[in-house]
Amino acid sequence: MPVAAAEPPAAGEDPRRHIPRTDQLLADPALASLAERHGPALVKAAIGAAQEQARRADLAPHAVRDRAVELAHTPEFAPSSQRVALNATGIVVHTNLGRAPLSAAALDAVTAAAGYVDLEFDVATGGRGIRGRGANAAVLAGCPAAQAALVVNNGAAALSLAVTALAGRMASGMAGAMAGAMAGGATGTVLVSRGEMVEIGDGFRLPDLIEATGVRIVEVGTTNRTRRSDYEAALGPGVGAILKIHPSNFVVAGFTAQASVAELAEVARSHDVPLVVDIGSGLLAADPALPDEPDATSALQAGADLVTCSGDKLLGGPQAGLILGRADLVQRLRRHPLHRAFRADKLALAALEATLRGPEPPVTTYRRRSGTELRRLAEVLAAEVSARVGDRIPVRIVPAEGRIGGGGAPGVPLPGWAVALPADYGPELRRGDPLVVARVVDGYCLLDCRCLEQAQLPQVVEAVAAAERRLGADR
Ligand SMILES: *Cc1c(COP(=O)(O)O)cnc(C)c1O
Repeated sequence: MPVAAAEPPAAGEDPRRHIPRTDQLLADPALASLAERHGPALVKAAIGAAQEQARRADLAPHAVRDRAVELAHTPEFAPSSQRVALNATGIVVHTNLGRAPLSAAALDAVTAAAGYVDLEFDVATGGRGIRGRGANAAVLAGCPAAQAALVVNNGAAALSLAVTALAGRMASGMAGAMAGAMAGGATGTVLVSRGEMVEIGDGFRLPDLIEATGVRIVEVGTTNRTRRSDYEAALGPGVGAILKIHPSNFVVAGFTAQASVAELAEVARSHDVPLVVDIGSGLLAADPALPDEPDATSALQAGADLVTCSGDKLLGGPQAGLILGRADLVQRLRRHPLHRAFRADKLALAALEATLRGPEPPVTTYRRRSGTELRRLAEVLAAEVSARVGDRIPVRIVPAEGRIGGGGAPGVPLPGWAVALPADYGPELRRGDPLVVARVVDGYCLLDCRCLEQAQLPQVVEAVAAAERRLGADR
């Protein structure tokens, strides 16, 4: 039942007396059902904002109900303040936009896992089951070269857990015991090449992360050249592991040398220390389109004992960290106290398993899109935008270069096509809902279609039309 429209105010009467009361508005079916779904607090806040507009005489009292409904559907009064973004940057793994978008299968899995699930429940016995067993099995199916797998919170957690469990204070086994004995209970060390001391973004440096676990880094080699002999010279008591980190977001060119995984595996084996390889992006198997991107299968086949990587970069899944490799070492990590702090949540485990078992994830589809397909999408978008905004703004199709992003494949351009608008559309499109994130280059706002679904194009057209109205009104 809509709220009865207030009587028009009599002459001389304060119209604000006719602003509908909160309890009246909460009885309105649209607002009541929203209050049931989103909770009363947000709906009351939206009602309050609409009433306030009427009190300031910015709104007629009879329009308060409709304005409250409208406001209650805006991001400001939504249960989650995260705003849906359409990624028109051409950057496939955009960390600021939440990295990998999930596949339909992963989305379904997340919805199902949101309720009660047999996360750690053995249906046969009714007792405790193994957390993450499905996700682990899916990882192993995607990388048969690994004996065992463990899924944790993210790539940083995977790396921290590996170095702590192998070289930290509580490391068990030879290396840890020796480290403890050598330094009177002090921690062990890991060897890292000076060419692999990486900052991964937003000021986070992997060496700081490693040392925050209490493990000390022994740097070997130089920035541009590190040889097998550098590692051999640095090996000694107290070294818990050799760590090889893929410097994913930069390339060193020119007079360079790095020891290969195979060479380091020989060194590691001859000194009885494990070799841990952080490949970063999470390719489980080699991809000919990304020849410089390391993958878990190749690293393990070349002799790595453990491989760590992220779940939400090139793997295309949820935020997660993967640890793959020797069963005894994976078990040691699983038993380490910090594993409890780093473990993955049920939503991520469900999404990761479904990403691996389901259809090709969007990240893979987007990075493989052909120039022809991208040009076609750009043409469709340009035609629809032109149809909406007429000749009020110039709309052109231009070649554009996308990127893998997320610190992956830094040297690999992804050539495609974009729709070019005037530069002031860049900031304006970020004010809409959904927000459209474009790239502003050389005085143009470029809408790159690489990471847009065909079904999202009408929303982009709508957003451009709304931006045009706002910009037009300002001019
Ligand atoms: C991205 C990255 C990490 C960190 O992974 P997160 O999943 O972001 O925690 C660690 N190492 C390398 C080489 C990376 O590229």
